[in-house]
Amino acid sequence: MTTETIQPSVHEAMARFRSSLLRRSSAVAWMVLIIIGAQAVREEVFRRSEFLIPIVGLAVLLVGSAVTRWERLMNSKLAPWISTAWLAAVTIGVASLAAIPELTATAEPILFGIAAVSGLLLTWWAHAFMTVAIGAAIAFIAFSLGEAEAIPDILVPLLTVMVVAATTALVGFEFEKEAIVSAGKEKKLETQRLDFERLYAVSATLARAESLAEIVPELVGTICKYLDAQVGVVLLHDADMARLEVMSPIWVNGNTLDTDPITVEINAPSVVAQTYRAAKPIYVRRVDRDSDSHVLLKELGLSQALIAPLKVEASRVGVIVIGDPREGEFIEDQLEKLGSLAAPAGLVLNQIGRYEAQAETTKRLEEVAKMKSDFVSTVSHELRSPLTSIIGSLDTVNRPELAPPEPTSQQLLISARRQAGRLQRLIEDLLVVSRIDRGAIPIHTESIQLKPLIDEVVRVVSIEPSITIEPDDLGVEADRDHLSRILINLVENAAKYAPGSPVELFAWERNSRGFIAVVDHGPGIPVDQRDRVFERFTQVDQSDTRSRGGTGLGLSIVKSLSEVMGGSVRIEATEGGGATFVVELPLTSSMPTNA
Ligand code: ADP
Repeated sequence: MTTETIQPSVHEAMARFRSSLLRRSSAVAWMVLIIIGAQAVREEVFRRSEFLIPIVGLAVLLVGSAVTRWERLMNSKLAPWISTAWLAAVTIGVASLAAIPELTATAEPILFGIAAVSGLLLTWWAHAFMTVAIGAAIAFIAFSLGEAEAIPDILVPLLTVMVVAATTALVGFEFEKEAIVSAGKEKKLETQRLDFERLYAVSATLARAESLAEIVPELVGTICKYLDAQVGVVLLHDADMARLEVMSPIWVNGNTLDTDPITVEINAPSVVAQTYRAAKPIYVRRVDRDSDSHVLLKELGLSQALIAPLKVEASRVGVIVIGDPREGEFIEDQLEKLGSLAAPAGLVLNQIGRYEAQAETTKRLEEVAKMKSDFVSTVSHELRSPLTSIIGSLDTVNRPELAPPEPTSQQLLISARRQAGRLQRLIEDLLVVSRIDRGAIPIHTESIQLKPLIDEVVRVVSIEPSITIEPDDLGVEADRDHLSRILINLVENAAKYAPGSPVELFAWERNSRGFIAVVDHGPGIPVDQRDRVFERFTQVDQSDTRSRGGTGLGLSIVKSLSEVMGGSVRIEATEGGGATFVVELPLTSSMPTNA
């Protein structure tokens, strides 16, 4: 803090003091005039011009004083000169009267009084000294040259007056100096108190922090208020992407503002990236519209900015940017303050970031644990129901007392066989999943004619979909078992999730790729779930699918197997409602290509 900002308050106090002194001196001066006037009447000198001229001059001066607004004048730059002039005039007037021998005895003590007052009034003591000197000189020249014997009579009191004035001025000057120093100390203490108060506000904000989304705007807002800045932004380091990301919302003029994602590459020439790299605060006094390094500052509409790294010991967390669209608002010392605030802020942001990452992992682990436990209960259920059905059928056929007629026995055995097949497929699904996990899935690709393979699949699932293969002899490069498993899964799902509506199978080729689509007209799969259903154990609507059975493994196997064979699978919506699963595979090398 410089004394320039402190002095005005001391000067104001001095100005008040001086103007009141002037007003009072004027009042006293009237009394003085009356006393001298009375003396003049008694001594019969009041008709003489050496009396009349100064006394009239003094009267005019005092009338002027009475109507002058001293306080305003004493606050102006001209104060020393006005005071000097006033005192000079009064001194000359009274000194002139003191030069009249009949009045010397009355005027002389008054002159001493004026000298004392002038010292207090003019703590610009050089002025005070000058005033009295000038007054003395003029009085000496004007009234005494003609009467040589009066010179020592005037000179001695005038010299005394000068000494008195200079001494009081010196005392006043010291007093003012002391006042300025103590006002400076007071102001400094006040600034420190405010600093502590604001620092406390920042620490309180940090202490309340629970999540990054909550803390960042609040922290930036508090720091902006503290540094009297209009815009504040935090950028956090994204280690995976080697860049700094602006945390939304940002702080703008007392409000939080959501922004689109803004990023700054760590190695960019940007002054923000530089601050991060150098781990040192930077003050951008003037944002250069044409500079590559000021792009972000320009985007934020800033004319100047303070940028500080957020760090935890040696490691860096990000950067804080505090800026202002106005020019010349900051002073260097605010950069120091921002630097000292950035240290605890970096620590807290880092801790919350870590805490959030940990919470995310814990949540994910909990989800996996729940998925696994759901899976165990689903699989147990899926194993038990076909087993119960098989045992029931076999028991019935096996009990002579029930002796079911031949066709019924036949039906029961067929049903038992189907349920056994279901069981076998489930167990195989589990085996495939475990092989996929171990990366030990065997693969024997060969040229496969789609028509016979699809006919075989249809027989296994005992569903009769409509089949369109174009061209008839379309073939793909694939592993026979894996492709059968894929198609069985998709067709069974179509029958399961779209019961009562027709299932259609299409196969075609384009750009050297073979495509097989399994189309149903059921509820379909919402767009936002289309990627998720290929994840293991994922079922779109738990309660609904549970009633239809299933483990949530089928589509994950379809995806993994398609990919190991160099293909892919995707979901589209069926026109008019329903799901269409499209499997894409390399076309068999013997097939002619048809672009
Ligand atoms: P599940 O054993 O549950 O059938 P899948 O992995 O085969 O497991 O399927 C995952 C989820 O995708 C199912 O639970 C179901 O919600 C949804 N789904 C699969 N196929 C269809 C379809 N054809 N129509 C609607 N939803 C489907």
